[in-house]
Amino acid sequence: MRFSSWMRQLLVWMRRIRQPDFVVKRVAVHPAPEAVKPGVMVVVGDRQRQKWACFQCPGGCGEVIKLSLNAKQSPCWSVEVDELDCPTISPSIRQLNCCGCHFWIRRGQVTWCDD
Ligand SMILES: [Zn+2]
Repeated sequence: MRFSSWMRQLLVWMRRIRQPDFVVKRVAVHPAPEAVKPGVMVVVGDRQRQKWACFQCPGGCGEVIKLSLNAKQSPCWSVEVDELDCPTISPSIRQLNCCGCHFWIRRGQVTWCDD
């Protein structure tokens, strides 16, 4: 087990942090949609060049959301990953095509927008 994963589970157990909704897994190549598991945000690329963030829509529709992290494309998002592998995404994410949900992901936690 990776140290960050062990540390995160310890902090959850100690109730210092909440169980995150998403933790980051870094991969080199784009995953198949069925390889994107609940609770995992797959970040494609390396630390210098992150290309995509893929994760299951937390709204419950099961769609795999793909966010471009390439600053040369529009729209694009940025992902910061903390020492416990918890992602912070900005700006917020709005689903247009399925359940219409709108949310932030900060330190691995989903926060819903009211609209
Ligand atoms: Zn959805």
